[in-house]
Amino acid sequence: MDTEELLVWDRDHLWHPYTSAAEPLPAYAVRRAEGVRIELEDGRRLIDGMSSWWCAVHGYNHPRLNAAAQRQLGEMSHVMFGGLTHRPAVELGRRLLAMAPGASLPEGDPCKMEYVFFADSGSVSVEVAMKMAMQWQHSQGHPERNEFMTIRGGYHGDTWNAMSVCDPEGGMHSLWRGRLAVQHFVPRPAVAFGSGWKPEALQPLREAFEKHHGTLAAFILEPIVQGAGGMWFYHPEYLRGIAGLCREHGVLLIADEIATGFGRTGRMFACEWTSVVPDIMCVGKALTGGYMTLAAVLATGRVARGIEGAFMHGPTFMANPLACAVACESLSLLTEGNVLERIARIESILREELSPLASSRGVRDVRVLGAIGVIEMAEPVEMAAIQRRFVEAGVWVRPFGRLVYVMPPYVISDEELRTLCRALVRVVWDTCR
Ligand SMILES: *Cc1c(COP(=O)(O)O)cnc(C)c1O
Repeated sequence: MDTEELLVWDRDHLWHPYTSAAEPLPAYAVRRAEGVRIELEDGRRLIDGMSSWWCAVHGYNHPRLNAAAQRQLGEMSHVMFGGLTHRPAVELGRRLLAMAPGASLPEGDPCKMEYVFFADSGSVSVEVAMKMAMQWQHSQGHPERNEFMTIRGGYHGDTWNAMSVCDPEGGMHSLWRGRLAVQHFVPRPAVAFGSGWKPEALQPLREAFEKHHGTLAAFILEPIVQGAGGMWFYHPEYLRGIAGLCREHGVLLIADEIATGFGRTGRMFACEWTSVVPDIMCVGKALTGGYMTLAAVLATGRVARGIEGAFMHGPTFMANPLACAVACESLSLLTEGNVLERIARIESILREELSPLASSRGVRDVRVLGAIGVIEMAEPVEMAAIQRRFVEAGVWVRPFGRLVYVMPPYVISDEELRTLCRALVRVVWDTCR
């Protein structure tokens, strides 16, 4: 099959994320990827601005991640987790708990993260977290506490219950309204990260908790950065305030760190912009450095041991050894080097390079946090056209709606990052004219 035939077959038979079989959008065929370069079948090499959706934080084809996978392949790729266990799972669980928010709390503190449930994808981990909260409330004698509250503008995945807590309007799931569990939504946090805090901003939340706490199992949110629901960075005081309201009303706090975890926002976990330790935390995406699908749900001792009887979930590929082994190596890479320093440097370059766009006609806002740079346009971009322009400019950037954004692998060099940003600015600039 030559590249042309491959693309035609793909177009005629394969779904891509959020695409139509009747009106397919073009896809680009990738031959290989290495470091921060994605090499297309036609030989063009693009600087990756997406980390394959927050995942490939160490870049592609990383010698140490490759070696970890190969080592583990030589032992076993998979065994069932029912009744069996293995070093990769134990090692990964230990590392996750040792780096989680609140890891420095004393042993035995009920608010310390002490338990891990491995799941196969981010969405599944959200399902698991929601079930966990409901089963915990049930065990505490509160079966009526079986609903969830969240902030508008969130994204928590594509499975059924995860969809119910995604933004009901702007989200991608409005088609299913009426079929999903009905949850409670409070306004999107209006006070931006980095601007002056307004204590009255918590008032609508306080009122919502007053009204609904008796039926709430948990409050679920993406800490600090709302990703696929709008790339919005909000003030850490919201998180602190919501955590306080949860405590006060016996409602669990679920932090969805699937996108924000592992350094992306400039802290290892976004919760660390405050001192909040959630009751339940979901991680995924960058967990394996973008090598394989794996997610995990972390829970405090209070939640894990507070669930009576068996916790009713158990995926076939739970704690897949191959994925766990790669994840362990990815966490080593993250904790050995000065990753947070590197991310701070990426942040300062993103600010410097992208901020000139702020005054551009057609651009509504430019915002940067950690290794995330966002250009919010006044109007939705024309996806296929702008994507082609980016590829022609030698970069891989995939906008959605009004949002053109980059979140490069942490290993990107200063020079590559500037090249990426300048291509981005040029294309956006041309689009606005
Ligand atoms: C991507 C994402 C998910 C879903 O993860 P999948 O692995 O795509 O199922 C859930 N929550 C957040 C915040 C995400 O960014």
